[in-house]
Amino acid sequence: MILPKSSRLTPAQLEEVTAILQAFGCRVQPIVGEVRTIYAIVGDERDELMINRIEGLDYIERIDRIQSPFKLMDRRSDLATGHLRIGGVTLGEDLFVIAGQCTIDPKHPEYFLETAQGVKAAGAHALRGGVWKPRTNPYSFQGDSRSLAVLVEAGRATGLPVVTEVMEPEHISIALDAGVDVLQIGARNALNYSLLRQVGRAIAGRPTAVLLKRSLHMGPVAEFIAAAEYIVNFGNPNVMLCPRGTAPTLDGYRNYPDESITPLIKERTWAAVVVDPSHSVGKAAYVPACALAAVAYGADGLCIETHVSPSHGIGDDPKQSITPTVLADVIRQARIIHDLRRTTVNS
Ligand code: PEP
Ligand code: MN
Repeated sequence: MILPKSSRLTPAQLEEVTAILQAFGCRVQPIVGEVRTIYAIVGDERDELMINRIEGLDYIERIDRIQSPFKLMDRRSDLATGHLRIGGVTLGEDLFVIAGQCTIDPKHPEYFLETAQGVKAAGAHALRGGVWKPRTNPYSFQGDSRSLAVLVEAGRATGLPVVTEVMEPEHISIALDAGVDVLQIGARNALNYSLLRQVGRAIAGRPTAVLLKRSLHMGPVAEFIAAAEYIVNFGNPNVMLCPRGTAPTLDGYRNYPDESITPLIKERTWAAVVVDPSHSVGKAAYVPACALAAVAYGADGLCIETHVSPSHGIGDDPKQSITPTVLADVIRQARIIHDLRRTTVNS
């Protein structure tokens, strides 16, 4: 990781650095942070002569060689100084809440528009709505591209940034062109390295963020963080890690709730953790407790499925969506825990 003395290299300096790296079979990848741009060396960076040449340039402060499987996502990387800001919230400072329906019903957009107003009034900062859905059964409703317009309209009406899952390469540009602010990569695609790369490439140079769900089958924390490294590698560091329960299930819950993984993630990376209690437990009645536990474990945010009338929903909404009224209560209580952590545990 090359750290320049100033906040970024001039084009001439970048050209000089690039030429040196290329002579040693490496290339440079700028990573644009909020405060400064840093430059990752892509390739084998062990050649001392190359390192000496770069460090000898008078506009270079130093080179950080982080012994870690993930150079950019590592806690010690300089990206740790940047803070992601979405919907008026700086993640890591204030509690960040994404809420909205699991699935937008294209036949009933009115529910989604009402849900959007409901989650806004409850205090959410971003609006989620599933357009394309990963379904276990191929005959279940698979989502509908027409729902994207409903999502964007609800985002405009409420002023909330919008979040939706992309499952296939062609979804990425459709979502970005429509103005989606946060691309979700679902649990089933968290290990789809080709999709991770394509999302990383597509959001480079944009303010777009990514909500990366934890795979149902991910083991060590490093595996989750390495998946995010695939995205950040292309230059946009706006990634949030989202534990959402794993397999096998805890009998009675939809998955095995994994909100306790948050401190382990934070030990190794600077990335914000936004926990999804809805898929973790899979039943509306258990969602509030899981949400509060997640914040107690240090989550920076929550992603909660919410519907104005869950019984009229489709996808996961009838079973696991809470109402905006319950959401308002969860946010109020979660904020208290979040603030307590900031003023006691973390200070
Ligand atoms: C969802 O958010 O509705 C969803 C399908 O999530 P996951 O990928 O975590 O199952
Ligand atoms: Mn869902």
